[in-house]
Amino acid sequence: AAPRIDVITLFPEFIESSLEVGVVGRAVKRGLLSVQSWQLRDFAHDNYKTIDHRPYGGGPGMVMLIDPLRECLQMVRQADPRPAHVVYLSPQGQPLTQAKVRELAHRPRLVLLCGRYEGIDERLLQAEVDEEVSIGDYVLSGGELAAAVLVDAVGRLQDGALNDPQSAVQDSFENGVLDCPHYTRPERHELGDVPALLASGDHRKIARWRRQQSLGRTWLRRPDVLARCDLSADDRQLLAE
Ligand code: SAM
Repeated sequence: AAPRIDVITLFPEFIESSLEVGVVGRAVKRGLLSVQSWQLRDFAHDNYKTIDHRPYGGGPGMVMLIDPLRECLQMVRQADPRPAHVVYLSPQGQPLTQAKVRELAHRPRLVLLCGRYEGIDERLLQAEVDEEVSIGDYVLSGGELAAAVLVDAVGRLQDGALNDPQSAVQDSFENGVLDCPHYTRPERHELGDVPALLASGDHRKIARWRRQQSLGRTWLRRPDVLARCDLSADDRQLLAE
């Protein structure tokens, strides 16, 4: 069966609309990946559909209740026999990197929890969540955008999602460095000409040029990324040139 991602949220329409377009929309339509969203309010215990309450200890904001989330998670787990890996999207989580995306893309079942307000009661997180993932060092008003980012990044890596799987291999971060610059027609333009080498047909030289560009712009733009790279002797030579 195709990998499955369940998203627990107060705004299922947010997730659903992000799945209507592009590579990942197509992957879902083709059945390469299944994404289900769940309305947390359906698991509220009262007529007001309450899913949050004031924080113990006082202070601003509201905290999401344990029980609606727990009961929703129980239903989600029952919807598919494969064991679920539960991720809470949170600014306090581990940063989402391409390596983390690859790891999550191999999991047959992911469950994503989207927080709102001040977040979720800590006891639910301790009991049910396998890991917390952050999409960056800034604070969003809710986990839905972060979940959509994760679904997109994971979805495009599913077998058959990209027309040419090679394209994912060349992307930034996949081989440790940023992608090289890309050009298309026309070859000559008032904004500049395409580097002549790219039209030369010499594939060995083109590969070398691209690697050099990748290394050079990683050095300029993201020295932190380059510092973590395991550079070959050839790479060091290219960087020195
Ligand atoms: N009080 C929380 C804190 O400081 O850690 C922030 C709560 S935030 C206003 C509401 C929800 O947005 C969070 O529960 C989380 O699901 C989501 N969120 C906010 N920033 C995020 C980020 N950088 N990555 C992933 N999710 C995020």
